[in-house]
Amino acid sequence: MASIIGHAAVAYALSKALPHSAKKNAIVTVGVLASMLPDLDVLSFKFGIAYESPLGHRGFTHSLLFAILLGLVLMAVFKKYGKQWLLFLYFFLCTASHGILDACTTGGRGVGFLIPFKNDRYFFPWQVIKVSPLGVEKFFSKWGLEVLLSEFIWIGLPCLLFVLMIKLLNTSK
Ligand SMILES: [Zn+2]
Repeated sequence: MASIIGHAAVAYALSKALPHSAKKNAIVTVGVLASMLPDLDVLSFKFGIAYESPLGHRGFTHSLLFAILLGLVLMAVFKKYGKQWLLFLYFFLCTASHGILDACTTGGRGVGFLIPFKNDRYFFPWQVIKVSPLGVEKFFSKWGLEVLLSEFIWIGLPCLLFVLMIKLLNTSK
């Protein structure tokens, strides 16, 4: 995985493109949580489920189908507070961005984007984000610092650029 900070940064940056609504804070908070949710599958290790199983780590919860389903559910929850297609797009992108970032990391087994249709695991050709340790204790180490630095460059800066671009577009209206 990328770290939860990296995943959250993407969801937060994406939220800047959403119009104002009565529940915007709640929508953004849920979007941030949705961007972290796929890693709940690390619990599969506790249940003895193999990494390469469709329900293993970076399996179904990291798939595009999962992102679509979660996007639809969350869209239904918030449908009163914005355009449905936009809400779906936001929640889908928050969730799908998780697997996309993971597929850019330097470690692990690749992401099961096409589960349940295909159990293959994929990486993008540009594996630039240093993979984050799974345990909290391990995160407070030299490894953790290197992860933060690589995420700052490959996630933080693009997110900042995105937010700036949205700001510019909004001020030029
Ligand atoms: Zn992950």
